Amino acid sequence: MNDFNIKPSSSLDQVRYEIRGDLSRRAHELERQGYEVTHLNIGNPSRFGFRTPETMRLAMIENMSLSEGYEHQKGIFPAREAVVMQQQNRGVMDVTADDVFIGNGVSELIDLTLRALLEPGDEVLVPSPDYPLWTAAVILNRGKAVHYDCPEEKGFMPDLASIEARITAKTRAIVVINPNNPTGSVYDKQTLLQIAQLAEKHKLIVFSDEIYDQVLFPGATFTPMATLVQDTLCATFSGLSKAYRACGYRVGWVVYSGNRECAAEYIRGVELLSALRLCSNVPGQWAIQTALGGYQSINDLMAPGGRLYESREAVVTGIEKSEFLSVVKPAGAMYAFPSFDTSQLKNYSDESFAMELLEREKILLVPGTSFNFSPNNHFRITLLPEADTMTRVLGKIEKLLEEKAV
Ligand code: PLP
Repeated sequence: MNDFNIKPSSSLDQVRYEIRGDLSRRAHELERQGYEVTHLNIGNPSRFGFRTPETMRLAMIENMSLSEGYEHQKGIFPAREAVVMQQQNRGVMDVTADDVFIGNGVSELIDLTLRALLEPGDEVLVPSPDYPLWTAAVILNRGKAVHYDCPEEKGFMPDLASIEARITAKTRAIVVINPNNPTGSVYDKQTLLQIAQLAEKHKLIVFSDEIYDQVLFPGATFTPMATLVQDTLCATFSGLSKAYRACGYRVGWVVYSGNRECAAEYIRGVELLSALRLCSNVPGQWAIQTALGGYQSINDLMAPGGRLYESREAVVTGIEKSEFLSVVKPAGAMYAFPSFDTSQLKNYSDESFAMELLEREKILLVPGTSFNFSPNNHFRITLLPEADTMTRVLGKIEKLLEEKAV
């Protein structure tokens, strides 16, 4: 019998990450019992047979013997220089290797860049729906996440009026996720420009999470936020996890651009925190230069005949045929964020739906409310399985919804 109880910090009370939460734990239990579960809950390409480009693997192996020591806290120079060149090719001309920090995935850098910034009670504008690490990291770093709307009726584009209405004297930064997880929206230049201007007017940092920057379906145009922000600080995040299918390498970066003079002390704070963790995983950094130059294999996956393109088509076709579902067709990233019709499915919540789909059909997806989104009739699925699997999944979803419809 225990006479003591080890409790987690109360700072975790408001923190959620249901992409790997209760549903996913239940899925593992089912798998241990011998069931085969279709995982549509996490954007982990290698799980579905996608490979990291071979040249990246070779670059890492070639330099393995140079990877045994700590390196510079910001990352190895050739990798940071490659990120600079990518920025230059995109029209961001005035950044240098000094403005680039490499981390253990974008995930580490989200936490680190917020930790260096926030005082207790400082507010950060975060999209709703969001990638929930952003909300969690704001809370963990003593800030307050204030969610702005990205209405479905407007293709999940950020609503400028909603952003402006939420700016207070405590607002320090605005987070933009483009191309977006979970909705698959790719934002137009005008919307991004208006956000940049709002940030400049109110002296907010723009945190632009562009990890899906090259994950674009035909017809979608990606505008880097850094090309639009001049008078305030812009922090652009990207990495190897998605476009290069190298989630396990744990490599991401943040590039500071725009007005760095106003932010010199803050950037020193980011450098201090980077130094405290010594450096990020070194072998993976050797793959950056090889990844960013030359042939970009992600384009083939996104074009007609490519895996991600065909999966998206299967999802959209399945939803068009459905009596209950609708979706904003994803223009980028690797997810769809469909909803079911609540007039036919009264009192049925996204969480009940996700749990029943898992128990009955052994399909794991993520309820929409897990993305800090209040309507409770959405869910996120990844587009990573083969098109045939997606067609089968949509069929099973339809069958369950038919049963539940009143
Ligand atoms: N940002 C967004 C929008 C994501 O979807 C993800 C992962 O899914 C991350 C950041 C984290 O990426 P990383 O693997 O670089 O930590």
